[in-house]
Amino acid sequence: MNICNTCGLPKELCVCESIAKESQQITIMLVKKKFGKKNTVVEGIDTKQIDLKDLTKKLKNMLACGGTFKDGKVELQGEHISKVREELIKLGFPPETIQVK
Ligand SMILES: [Zn+2]
Repeated sequence: MNICNTCGLPKELCVCESIAKESQQITIMLVKKKFGKKNTVVEGIDTKQIDLKDLTKKLKNMLACGGTFKDGKVELQGEHISKVREELIKLGFPPETIQVK
């Protein structure tokens, strides 16, 4: 069985991640890359509370694009600002925690 390290409850009963999701201050923005391309960056996620590797994987699957994570930032290939916002909300991040630049 999978036990949460924070509260000691089985993962199915644990709400630590939902609580953590409500306390994030996420910013989504575009960054310019070489050759006029743009990537979408998601930052402000507390990596002590949220599994960034898992989140990156989910976003990449949902958007069907490439991407990486580093230093608390997720960088996705291409312009996906509104889509990323939608997907983060679907993953349980409340809309008021997400800012779009
Ligand atoms: Zn927990």
